[in-house]
Amino acid sequence: MAEITESKNFIHAFIEEDIAPGGRCQGQTVHTRFPPEPNGYLHIGHCKALTINFSTAEKFGGLCNLRMDDTNPTKEDVEFVEAIQEDIHWLGFDWGDRFFYGSDYFEKTYQFAEELIQKDLAYVCQLTPEQFKEYRGDLTHPAISPYRDRPIAESLDLFRRMRAGEFQDNEMTLRAKIDLESGNFNMRDPVIYRIRHMHHHRQGDKWCIYPMYDFAHPIQDALEGITHSLCSLEFENHRPLYNWVVEHVSVPSHPRQIEFARLGIDHTVLSKRKLRQLVEEGRVSGWDDPRMPTLCGMRRRGYTPKSIRNFCERVGVAKAPNTIAYSFLEHCLREDLNETATRVMAVVKPLKLTVTNYPEDQRETFQVENNPVDESAGTREITFSRELWIESDDFMEEKVGKFFRLFPGNEVRLKGAYVVKCTGCRKDENGNVAEVFCEYDPESKGGNPADGRKVKSTIHWVDAGNCVEAEVRQYSNLFDDPDPDAAGKDFLACLNPNSLEVLTGCKLEACMKDAKAPASYQFMRLGYFCPDSKDSSPEHLVFNRSVSLKDSYKPGV
Ligand code: ATP
Ligand code: MG
Repeated sequence: MAEITESKNFIHAFIEEDIAPGGRCQGQTVHTRFPPEPNGYLHIGHCKALTINFSTAEKFGGLCNLRMDDTNPTKEDVEFVEAIQEDIHWLGFDWGDRFFYGSDYFEKTYQFAEELIQKDLAYVCQLTPEQFKEYRGDLTHPAISPYRDRPIAESLDLFRRMRAGEFQDNEMTLRAKIDLESGNFNMRDPVIYRIRHMHHHRQGDKWCIYPMYDFAHPIQDALEGITHSLCSLEFENHRPLYNWVVEHVSVPSHPRQIEFARLGIDHTVLSKRKLRQLVEEGRVSGWDDPRMPTLCGMRRRGYTPKSIRNFCERVGVAKAPNTIAYSFLEHCLREDLNETATRVMAVVKPLKLTVTNYPEDQRETFQVENNPVDESAGTREITFSRELWIESDDFMEEKVGKFFRLFPGNEVRLKGAYVVKCTGCRKDENGNVAEVFCEYDPESKGGNPADGRKVKSTIHWVDAGNCVEAEVRQYSNLFDDPDPDAAGKDFLACLNPNSLEVLTGCKLEACMKDAKAPASYQFMRLGYFCPDSKDSSPEHLVFNRSVSLKDSYKPGV
């Protein structure tokens, strides 16, 4: 596991060099971009990439474009485009009026391809896909193309006819003429255009040839005046080609590509293909299932923009691939919610507690703090009466080991109210505890006995005559296996069959009847919870457990 420290940001160091006097971008506005493919919802991995791009621009007083990378004609969908925009705005980043589509540059990209042909830097190649593989060569043998020395005019004519639709898919390609002997296979005359008779979601049937990402992307960056093209590490070996493209076509600027490590998180998969499979096979309820590492899933789970941005910033921009503990993500959420979440009492596995010496017709009010770490959050009223709900785990008929909560003869503090002493219980016909009895000490109002005697435990409770019911969904890791994303592993076999526990008939303080997303609460002693944005209504309250209170993250592990 990588150690999480405030890492020195090498990307910022490069940019500082570039904009310093004499640097390659002296006097220019720093300009970055985030280029998602609109074929799925954003996940926490994308979030790292977009945080780096947007916050780097912010840091240098620059700009960051949002560009839908729809170069590839498959699978794009407006549903995804809108969701991506919503997620980025939710995180608090803004692209202003600089929203683009890669496909908007198709005509210009085509013209640059013709320019390369005219300069004898590209040629039409008629190797079949099988031959192409066969002639790729290896470390000791160069690649071969018998079409490399084809006259310029002939390539130009064929390329135009490719565009006109005269040929079938895969019949020919346009290749950049770079270096068949290069040790970097991306430079061995890479294909820059291929034939695909496919409908494009924005271009319709206008095109039957499509540029390859390695050719299109640098051109799109350069046309938008991007100064720094920040991308994940798998593009490192493509950088020489990126540079070759911007140097050999007449684009107005020469962006610099800088790579950072992809984010990996344990117990999680971060690949759109796998996430889509979970959705399509009904393994989760949708892209926004609260167990999904998608931004929409995390939002529904109760993650806040601040906690996610903090996480991304603290994970840093290391160059070495790193897997971060899921518990660190949870740690960042707890940190934020600790400051902002209203504390309330909720009993998720209720057991009736009757205070036998408390008058039946009496109900008194206590004033409690909404948030002990934020005075400005104020106070609210809770009520106390003869019949209460407590957590069934907080009672044992016979004490075992270090159990100091309710058992016959023992005293506990009912949070914020009184000290009570357990006097026994009643069982139902199945022998299960149905009701616990206790007596309260009237001299312990607020929770402290007047005689100063020690009471070891404090438990939470809810007034049975003044509460609301709710369904509570408790989540744990979607995958049991710490590394379900590992190459060659059957990630579906790693799914945790118990990742969702649904509790019904939970009892909440009455003030929760109007709770609506987005709002976060600490259910005291249990964790942080939020109303489910889809399924919760005043008639049927549903809460998601965002994160439990127990922090298992250990710094430096
Ligand atoms: P996926 O594997 O999830 O399909 P992708 O790279 O195909 O990811 P894109 O939509 O192309 O998805 O991603 C947009 C940007 O987000 C790219 O620049 C990509 O490098 C970056 N990105 C994707 N996954 C991660 C990750 N796990 N960590 C950091 N950056 C990522
Ligand atoms: Mg991609």
